[in-house]
Amino acid sequence: MILVSSCLLGLKTRYDGGNNAQKLLLKYKDLLKFIPVCPEVEGGLSIPRLPAEIVNGDGSKVLTGQARVLDCRGRDVTTAFVKGAKITAGKLSSHNITAAILKEGSPSCGVHRIYDGTFTKHKKAGQGVTAALLQQLNLPVYSEEELTEELLAFLQSQS
Ligand code: SF4
Repeated sequence: MILVSSCLLGLKTRYDGGNNAQKLLLKYKDLLKFIPVCPEVEGGLSIPRLPAEIVNGDGSKVLTGQARVLDCRGRDVTTAFVKGAKITAGKLSSHNITAAILKEGSPSCGVHRIYDGTFTKHKKAGQGVTAALLQQLNLPVYSEEELTEELLAFLQSQS
């Protein structure tokens, strides 16, 4: 099975109640073995919710307690983000997951980039909390921006 950020599959789990439907994933969603997950919802956050960003670090620093996740009003939502990452990681063995495709830029799912913690729409290099945890567990993790038909076929052959 391939773990996929639920918003990429068209599910309305984004903080504002929207989605990030990705054409290639939608094309194959009935043919390939995808398992959708939204770590923020798994962690107990609502839809809609206030946008949140990682302050003073990235997902790996959040996991070691060196950085926090705050919403745009300053509320600390670190616990929910870490809980969601752990619940997502818990699905790996129970669903025989061999790779993940996650939404770039998200404080949970970002694979190469995340918002920089200033709530000014600027991004910086780094991973979201869930992406960091999955990579620490040696799961191959890709962003939707890296997707090609060839990569999907390869991931499917490994699943
Ligand atoms: Fe999508 Fe991940 Fe944000 Fe959930 S946490 S809405 S799956 S980017």
